Amino acid sequence: MDFETRKTWKNHLGNQRIDPLRIYTPRTIDEVAEIVRLAEQMRVTVRAVGSGHSWSDAALTEGFLLRPEGLARVPAPEPDFVRADWAGGPLARVEAGARVRAINDHLDRNGLGLVNMGGYDGQTVAGVISTATHGSGTRFGSLSDFVRSLDIVVAGGAVRRIEPKDGPTDRAAYEAHHGDRRQLIQDDHVFDAVAVGIGCMGIICTVMIEVRERYFLREVRELHPWSKVRADLVDGGVHEANRHYELIFSPYAPDGEQNCLVTTRNIAPDARTRPWDKRMRNWLVEAAALFPLTPHIINVLLDTRPSLAPRLLERAMRSLVKDEYVAISHEVFNIGLANFLPAYSSEIAVPMDGRHIAAVERIFEVAEEYARLGRVYQSSPIALRFVRRSTAYLSMMHESDTMMIELIGLSGNDGGYALLNAYEKALYEFGGRPHWGQINTLTGSHGFVEKMYPRYADWMEVRQRLDPDGVFDSPFTKRVGLSSDRFVR
Ligand SMILES: Cc1cc2nc3c(=O)[nH]c(=O)nc-3n(C[C@H](O)[C@H](O)[C@H](O)COP(=O)(O)OP(=O)(O)OC[C@H]3O[C@@H](n4cnc5c(N)ncnc54)[C@H](O)[C@@H]3O)c2cc1C
Repeated sequence: MDFETRKTWKNHLGNQRIDPLRIYTPRTIDEVAEIVRLAEQMRVTVRAVGSGHSWSDAALTEGFLLRPEGLARVPAPEPDFVRADWAGGPLARVEAGARVRAINDHLDRNGLGLVNMGGYDGQTVAGVISTATHGSGTRFGSLSDFVRSLDIVVAGGAVRRIEPKDGPTDRAAYEAHHGDRRQLIQDDHVFDAVAVGIGCMGIICTVMIEVRERYFLREVRELHPWSKVRADLVDGGVHEANRHYELIFSPYAPDGEQNCLVTTRNIAPDARTRPWDKRMRNWLVEAAALFPLTPHIINVLLDTRPSLAPRLLERAMRSLVKDEYVAISHEVFNIGLANFLPAYSSEIAVPMDGRHIAAVERIFEVAEEYARLGRVYQSSPIALRFVRRSTAYLSMMHESDTMMIELIGLSGNDGGYALLNAYEKALYEFGGRPHWGQINTLTGSHGFVEKMYPRYADWMEVRQRLDPDGVFDSPFTKRVGLSSDRFVR
């Protein structure tokens, strides 16, 4: 099988890079199995990457790196073997390297849609589920919670289909077709470990996700002071009243109180019934985000006059106010051209048990402290999204409805990374868990990750079963304490 050598792999921003021993682009599950066996024979590690949209080191590998493009067919060509009595919603089975946008296009053409998604569609489905990438809405978990079945190549090049106990695959039909070559595991414990695996459980090759019928969303964006938003969050009714509720805020209060731009999204009738100006976001703001010099202009402004930051953030939020935007669901979930600004981000999960309110106010203090100490300012508003609890052992949302705090910095902003690290450290006091795919300084020392995730030992037990010799270890697993040297031998 062909491979490349002496090639550097970089993530999309270029803040993570590595020179793996070999880069493969497998086209079938059997090719993946062959590469895993080869890696084991040669005593090197192997890891799949998605589209490189993680800002963290989660995708890095020193051994064999598997690119996603060869396994990206939508729908997946092999048969599904779905039970005739499957009681869940409609299913879509896709190859792991498919981008979210390709899945949306396919679903749309077939009168279907994702139940929820994050704010962007450039990632691969395997990358998204591996890090528990999420959107907003306390009725919905992350995309990994909509996965009903995974085909994965584990140690020894063995192929496993992993599902919850009541998974959709018809065992008799599956076994009649595959015989002993591919084992079907329908087990909640194994599934909850593999569902958010951060590349450590094996190479995911296909994913079956539960979807729904096609639908439209109406988005409204309003500016409110923190005191109102705070009261709404304490009351919690906004999460019941809206299918999706999220906000961005500035941690600064140039006029006495912090402001928030609240976004709500609810199901709407067909968008084509609405006037043209309600079927688009503010085009001027979109154009500004696309303008290549925008981030540089902001950085120059912030470098020369850092104290302008609070006013710039206010202006940015005001420019996004909109009374109505109606479109097909996946277009409304996607936050648009802002995704293309050169930026990096940390995101910390905080349980919605009251600590989440205090966590926001702690952010105000940290921002204030850094402005005072070194004139370091936030270069972008901070986002709050709300996600339903997950059973996946290493989901940031495990066991608790969660507020996700996304701390974004424009590339090149002086002191930006230090400010992110300061927020992260401060938010650990509120039960914070960093997003696996975003910038974080988590370490595996002092049992830190074990304390954060109550089912850590269960996750490690499954990992040891699927990868006894650590062929899926990586610089990331060493850093955060998920490597095979932590296995109980
Ligand atoms: C512009 C932008 C917008 C974003 N928006 C959001 C958002 O709205 N919500 C949110 O939660 N996050 C968001 N993120 C973070 C991003 O969704 C995650 O980091 C996601 O994991 C990236 O997916 P990827 O396909 O790029 O995978 P990569 O970053 O390449 O890999 C992520 C992880 O998945 C593993 N992996 C990839 N493919 C496989 C496979 N086939 N088998 C096994 N493991 C695999 C990798 O080893 C790695 O551990 C955003 C990031 C960017 C850059």
